[in-house]
Amino acid sequence: MTIPLPVARAAGPAEPRLSVDLAAIARNTRRLAERASGELMAVVKADGFGHGAADVARTALAHGATGLGVTSLAEAVSLRDAGLVAPVLSWLNPVGADFGLAAAYDVEVAVPSPAHLAAVAGAPGRIRVHLHVDAGMARDGAEPAEWPALCRAARRAELRGLVEVVGLMGHLGCADRPDDHCNALGRARFAWALDVARTSGLRPRHRHLAATAATLTDPRAHHTMSRVGAGLVGIDPSGTTDLESAMTLTAPLVQVRRVPAGTVVGYGHEHRTTRATHLGLVPLGYADGLPRVAATGATVLVRGARRPVLGQISMDQVVVDLGDRAADPGEQVTVFGPGRDGEPTVAEWARWSGTIPHEIVTGVGARVPRTRVAAPYLRSLDAGTPA
Ligand SMILES: *Cc1c(COP(=O)(O)O)cnc(C)c1O
Repeated sequence: MTIPLPVARAAGPAEPRLSVDLAAIARNTRRLAERASGELMAVVKADGFGHGAADVARTALAHGATGLGVTSLAEAVSLRDAGLVAPVLSWLNPVGADFGLAAAYDVEVAVPSPAHLAAVAGAPGRIRVHLHVDAGMARDGAEPAEWPALCRAARRAELRGLVEVVGLMGHLGCADRPDDHCNALGRARFAWALDVARTSGLRPRHRHLAATAATLTDPRAHHTMSRVGAGLVGIDPSGTTDLESAMTLTAPLVQVRRVPAGTVVGYGHEHRTTRATHLGLVPLGYADGLPRVAATGATVLVRGARRPVLGQISMDQVVVDLGDRAADPGEQVTVFGPGRDGEPTVAEWARWSGTIPHEIVTGVGARVPRTRVAAPYLRSLDAGTPA
């Protein structure tokens, strides 16, 4: 005997969903590849900025990227486990990291200090390294004072066959403001670092300084390769180029209720309705990536209209004001998307939250099911994905 499954369903999926448009990522990659003077490294750290590291990697590699970049070795290993064979660079690891993984999984690693060099040279295998200089943001990379010694030690390790120096890298701290003088200082620091490396006898193939913003605005920072992450997923920190957002976050309404004027809504009773209205309950909260701080001013799209969030955003749910135009339980709410149908964008959610779009896209919680809209030339990715 078969038990019939309940089929009551409104239009759209019956659960929250984060949909990732790989065709948009493909188009963004092609635009970035056209702008870059050198090669393009697709930065897919933090699960591809929340879009799925392996999906973003495959898409970018099919549309102009020649290599991949991540922070930790663990991220690099999971790309290999997903079957990716392109060059992968991992640039943020503690001295005590298991650099044996780099050799075992054919991962290149950035070396920001003599202590890191010793750890990498001491690991089994001849690991390919990129020496990393701090180009003026006092964050990751070697300080200028230790750069000459790092270059000399790396050359010695290379001559002994312990490492192969294949790259020199730096990062700009204010490339999102192309006219800021700090970019000139960063470029000059990097040029000096290249000189010192050359004097030490190093001849690496890759020299890379630019991320998305400098790739789009400053050819002087391009060198032989650009490392782009945000731009792949439609975020241009420089605000100069219309890239395409690739994420759409939706959920069905769980409940709809009619309430009189004076109804208090949500934790702390911070909102009181000023008129009779309809309230819709959306099963997404701050654990799913809707920043709690965004509550005032935030809207979602329901039946083609923007509807304001009322009261506090809870961990798992949020209430929206549906006004007179009630929607039915099960109807789709779009929290954010590319904006083509009037829905809020990631950039708007960032503004409501006092943050940058990067934090919104990387903040969507792990329990939201992901689906991808594959580019036609990537159909095979669709296998096994529920429609
Ligand atoms: C994240 C990161 C990038 C990518 O920067 P985008 O602005 O996202 O393109 C490049 N290089 C380093 C060192 C990074 O940490």
